[in-house]
Amino acid sequence: MAKPVLLTVDDNSDVLRAIERDLRSKYGAEYRVIGSDSPESALDVLKQLKLRNDSVALLLADQRMPEMDGVAFLRVAMEIFPDAKRALLTAYADTNAAISAINEANIHYFFMKPWDPPVEHLYPQLDDLLDDWRASYRPAFEGIRVLGTRWSPKSYELRDFLARNRVPYQWIDLELSEHDLETKKLLEYVGPEAARLPIVLFPDGTRLFESAPAEVAQKVGLRMRAQTDFYDLAIVGGGPAGLAAAVYGASEGLHTVMIEKEAPGGQAGMSARIENYLGFPIGLSGGDLARRAVVQAQRFGVEILSPLEAVKVRTEGSYRFIKLADGNEISCHALMIATGVQWRRLEAPGVDRLQGAGVYYGGGATDALSYRNETVYVVGGANSAGQAAINFANHAERVVVVVRGSSLSSSMSQYLIDQIKKTPNVDIWPDASVAEVHGETHLEEISFLCSDTNKIERVPATAMFIFIGALPRTEWLANVVERDERGFILTGPDLIRDGQRPKGWPLDRDPFLLETNVPGVFAVGDVRHGSIKRVASGVGEGSVAVQFIHQYLSKV
Ligand SMILES: Cc1cc2nc3c(=O)[nH]c(=O)nc-3n(C[C@H](O)[C@H](O)[C@H](O)COP(=O)(O)OP(=O)(O)OC[C@H]3O[C@@H](n4cnc5c(N)ncnc54)[C@H](O)[C@@H]3O)c2cc1C
Repeated sequence: MAKPVLLTVDDNSDVLRAIERDLRSKYGAEYRVIGSDSPESALDVLKQLKLRNDSVALLLADQRMPEMDGVAFLRVAMEIFPDAKRALLTAYADTNAAISAINEANIHYFFMKPWDPPVEHLYPQLDDLLDDWRASYRPAFEGIRVLGTRWSPKSYELRDFLARNRVPYQWIDLELSEHDLETKKLLEYVGPEAARLPIVLFPDGTRLFESAPAEVAQKVGLRMRAQTDFYDLAIVGGGPAGLAAAVYGASEGLHTVMIEKEAPGGQAGMSARIENYLGFPIGLSGGDLARRAVVQAQRFGVEILSPLEAVKVRTEGSYRFIKLADGNEISCHALMIATGVQWRRLEAPGVDRLQGAGVYYGGGATDALSYRNETVYVVGGANSAGQAAINFANHAERVVVVVRGSSLSSSMSQYLIDQIKKTPNVDIWPDASVAEVHGETHLEEISFLCSDTNKIERVPATAMFIFIGALPRTEWLANVVERDERGFILTGPDLIRDGQRPKGWPLDRDPFLLETNVPGVFAVGDVRHGSIKRVASGVGEGSVAVQFIHQYLSKV
């Protein structure tokens, strides 16, 4: 934790050195002592400290300075750090000025120069001031701070990225804290670039403007560059299936890399509560599962590259090459595709334009907190929509689940239907679909087409979360890996047609259970044709596939 600051300012360099020395020798272990030789530079330092979210315990200024006297300096400085204790260093002749400043400028104490010996004339009084300061001191948040607006898609993208990568951050909504003095000051110190939202402030003083996830990722140490260019096993996709493969592969001695384009955890990472995963009787959140799995994988030495997208594959003899979105390429002997599925787009006017500004696909656990006292619309009738509705109901005033069919029973698990029935602030709106969404800068209204009456109903709304099924995005594998008509990857027995192995298959054995039409390239989890779309089945497939990889590698 950064030490709170004792800041002293004096234009006389000998006095400045002496007071710095005395402060450091007594308080250096607990406080950081900063000396400044002019009030102007001291004010600059204070603004920088504010932007870094540092704490200042004491402001100690010489009274006689040419440009700005000590009292004037303390008056300005206390606007930046109102809780800091304020003291003056005065000569005998300035005593009267100092006494009146105590009343006028809220100064806590004045010291006479020289203060020798400090054990008598400096430390006891400072001890008192600092004890007093400590009594009401609450350490400031130490992580990164994000300044933006709730309706900005860029702010949403960044917050979602940070939350999914479990990077702690403090969110400062500039609209909600429009009248907050601290926020106003923060923006003033940021300067003319304050309009370039979202702004990210790091504890080391770095500031990023209009910042995108990749930029922040680099700064917080998420790895996006491979350490070497060859691996025994490369896994594309960091959902449950990919993470399981990574843990099993690395724990069994394979030099393993995992490439994930957004954040480890995949779809499961968005689930507020997975209730059916073995061994967790009260359920666990997808975020928690992902965090545990990432730690486990890293403990076994898996290299996790994220956020980084795989954009192409090619083969050359026994080598499989993966082209990455940053232009680099890595090679491996065995490649595992665990890219899952992504949300299907909702085709209705306004949806694309307002995405990230009230209209969202999926909905992480962190989103729910933002909708306190509001009505949230959840579009979709499957389990993911049901889970989200229950999660939102914990915070929102009302949740409306909009379903095209006449009830939930055909699409949602009974346990979720029962839970929804028991939750008084969740309503089901059957026979309805989104016809259009409206709003200038953010969602303001939704028009629903009601199929029972064939009428459009327009309702005010600020938040709509879409859960209408998902599809694999496997275009990047075209011409290499065989897929079904919807893009799901064919593996093992699915590739054998009329007793024939897939075209071009070079080996005198059939493809292994989870192997594609390219030897050494495997597919697991939701992306696989015929897979059961569950966390446990993805984990199972990822783990089992590693056994086939060992068999494959034994003959490469
Ligand atoms: C809201 C919600 C709730 C759910 N609740 C449950 C539940 O309670 N119980 C249950 O059993 N199942 C649940 N599921 C389903 C479960 O989450 C999925 O079946 C499971 O996550 C599939 O795992 P996967 O690893 O195959 O794919 P995914 O979880 O989809 O992960 C795939 C990963 O691959 C990444 N990726 C994709 N393309 C690329 C690329 N080209 N380069 C790099 N990375 C890429 C994606 O970013 C993603 O992180 C839920 C799903 C959702 C959305």
